[in-house]
Amino acid sequence: MNDQAHGNDPLPIGTKLDHPCPECGETMVLRESKFGLFYGCSAFPKCKAAHGAHKDGKPLGIPADKMTKKARMDAHEVFDQLWKGKHMARGEAYQWMQEAMEMTEEEAHIGRFDADQCEELVHKVEMYLEEKEDK
Ligand SMILES: [Zn+2]
Repeated sequence: MNDQAHGNDPLPIGTKLDHPCPECGETMVLRESKFGLFYGCSAFPKCKAAHGAHKDGKPLGIPADKMTKKARMDAHEVFDQLWKGKHMARGEAYQWMQEAMEMTEEEAHIGRFDADQCEELVHKVEMYLEEKEDK
Protein backbone atom coordinates (compact mmCIF):
# COMPACT_ATOMS: atom_id res chain seq x y z
CA MET A 1 0.00 0.00 0.00
CA ASN A 2 1.18 3.43 -0.83
CA ASP A 3 0.61 5.76 2.08
CA GLN A 4 0.18 9.26 0.66
CA ALA A 5 3.55 10.88 1.37
CA HIS A 6 3.19 12.55 4.78
CA GLY A 7 -0.20 13.90 3.83
CA ASN A 8 0.96 16.74 1.57
CA ASP A 9 0.82 16.20 -2.13
CA PRO A 10 3.68 17.48 -4.23
CA LEU A 11 3.08 20.70 -6.09
CA PRO A 12 1.89 20.12 -9.65
CA ILE A 13 4.25 20.53 -12.59
CA GLY A 14 3.90 24.06 -13.93
CA THR A 15 3.60 25.69 -10.51
CA LYS A 16 5.09 29.17 -10.72
CA LEU A 17 7.94 30.20 -8.49
CA ASP A 18 7.27 33.47 -6.72
CA HIS A 19 10.70 34.78 -7.70
CA PRO A 20 11.38 35.91 -11.25
CA CYS A 21 14.20 34.33 -13.20
CA PRO A 22 17.48 35.77 -11.89
CA GLU A 23 18.89 35.82 -15.41
CA CYS A 24 16.12 37.35 -17.48
CA GLY A 25 13.20 38.19 -15.20
CA GLU A 26 10.77 35.73 -16.77
CA THR A 27 8.65 33.36 -14.72
CA MET A 28 10.23 30.24 -13.29
CA VAL A 29 8.00 27.16 -13.44
CA LEU A 30 8.19 23.74 -11.84
CA ARG A 31 9.39 21.06 -14.24
CA GLU A 32 10.40 17.47 -14.00
CA SER A 33 13.56 15.91 -15.32
CA LYS A 34 15.01 12.46 -14.83
CA PHE A 35 16.93 13.97 -11.92
CA GLY A 36 13.79 15.14 -10.21
CA LEU A 37 11.85 18.34 -9.85
CA PHE A 38 13.33 21.74 -10.52
CA TYR A 39 12.22 25.23 -11.46
CA GLY A 40 13.20 26.19 -14.96
CA CYS A 41 12.88 29.52 -16.71
CA SER A 42 9.80 29.80 -18.91
CA ALA A 43 12.02 31.41 -21.56
CA PHE A 44 13.86 28.09 -22.01
CA PRO A 45 15.68 27.27 -24.28
CA LYS A 46 16.63 30.92 -24.74
CA CYS A 47 17.37 31.14 -21.03
CA LYS A 48 18.75 28.16 -19.19
CA ALA A 49 18.40 29.42 -15.65
CA ALA A 50 17.21 26.78 -13.20
CA HIS A 51 16.49 26.61 -9.53
CA GLY A 52 16.40 23.49 -7.38
CA ALA A 53 13.24 22.10 -5.84
CA HIS A 54 12.52 19.70 -3.01
CA LYS A 55 10.86 16.37 -3.74
CA ASP A 56 7.49 17.92 -2.90
CA GLY A 57 8.06 20.73 -5.40
CA LYS A 58 8.80 23.45 -2.86
CA PRO A 59 11.70 25.61 -4.01
CA LEU A 60 15.04 25.18 -2.34
CA GLY A 61 15.97 28.24 -0.30
CA ILE A 62 17.03 31.19 -2.37
CA PRO A 63 19.97 32.84 -0.63
CA ALA A 64 19.12 36.51 -0.56
CA ASP A 65 22.70 37.52 -1.10
CA LYS A 66 23.36 35.29 -4.07
CA MET A 67 22.11 37.84 -6.54
CA THR A 68 23.94 40.62 -4.75
CA LYS A 69 27.17 38.67 -4.98
CA LYS A 70 26.71 38.15 -8.67
CA ALA A 71 25.83 41.82 -9.16
CA ARG A 72 29.02 42.82 -7.35
CA MET A 73 31.13 40.54 -9.50
CA ASP A 74 29.57 41.96 -12.64
CA ALA A 75 30.01 45.52 -11.40
CA HIS A 76 33.66 44.88 -10.59
CA GLU A 77 34.31 43.45 -13.99
CA VAL A 78 32.84 46.50 -15.69
CA PHE A 79 34.44 48.98 -13.29
CA ASP A 80 37.89 47.42 -13.65
CA GLN A 81 37.82 48.28 -17.34
CA LEU A 82 38.19 51.88 -16.29
CA TRP A 83 41.66 51.44 -14.89
CA LYS A 84 42.77 48.29 -16.67
CA GLY A 85 42.37 50.08 -19.93
CA LYS A 86 44.00 53.35 -20.79
CA HIS A 87 41.31 55.54 -19.31
CA MET A 88 42.65 56.29 -15.86
CA ALA A 89 44.84 55.01 -13.08
CA ARG A 90 43.34 52.79 -10.42
CA GLY A 91 43.25 55.52 -7.82
CA GLU A 92 41.57 57.88 -10.26
CA ALA A 93 39.01 55.24 -11.09
CA TYR A 94 38.04 54.95 -7.45
CA GLN A 95 37.82 58.68 -7.17
CA TRP A 96 35.67 58.73 -10.28
CA MET A 97 33.39 56.14 -8.67
CA GLN A 98 32.96 58.28 -5.57
CA GLU A 99 31.89 61.20 -7.68
CA ALA A 100 29.71 59.20 -10.04
CA MET A 101 27.94 57.44 -7.16
CA GLU A 102 27.96 60.49 -4.89
CA MET A 103 29.62 58.51 -2.15
CA THR A 104 32.37 59.08 0.33
CA GLU A 105 35.66 57.25 0.02
CA GLU A 106 34.47 55.05 2.83
CA GLU A 107 31.25 54.07 1.03
CA ALA A 108 32.62 53.64 -2.45
CA HIS A 109 33.53 49.97 -2.32
CA ILE A 110 31.76 47.56 -4.60
CA GLY A 111 31.96 44.93 -1.87
CA ARG A 112 29.50 47.02 0.13
CA PHE A 113 27.10 47.81 -2.70
CA ASP A 114 23.67 46.27 -2.93
CA ALA A 115 22.37 44.95 -6.24
CA ASP A 116 20.78 48.28 -7.18
CA GLN A 117 23.95 50.23 -6.54
CA CYS A 118 25.91 47.71 -8.60
CA GLU A 119 23.52 48.20 -11.47
CA GLU A 120 23.81 51.96 -11.18
CA LEU A 121 27.59 51.76 -11.25
CA VAL A 122 27.60 49.47 -14.28
CA HIS A 123 25.33 51.89 -16.06
CA LYS A 124 27.54 54.86 -15.25
CA VAL A 125 30.74 53.13 -16.27
CA GLU A 126 29.16 52.06 -19.53
CA MET A 127 28.03 55.59 -20.26
CA TYR A 128 31.51 56.87 -19.49
CA LEU A 129 33.20 54.30 -21.72
CA GLU A 130 30.77 54.92 -24.53
CA GLU A 131 31.48 58.63 -24.41
CA LYS A 132 35.23 58.01 -24.47
CA GLU A 133 35.13 55.52 -27.28
CA ASP A 134 32.80 57.35 -29.55
CA LYS A 135 34.84 60.31 -30.65
ZN1 LIG B 1 15.34 33.29 -17.55
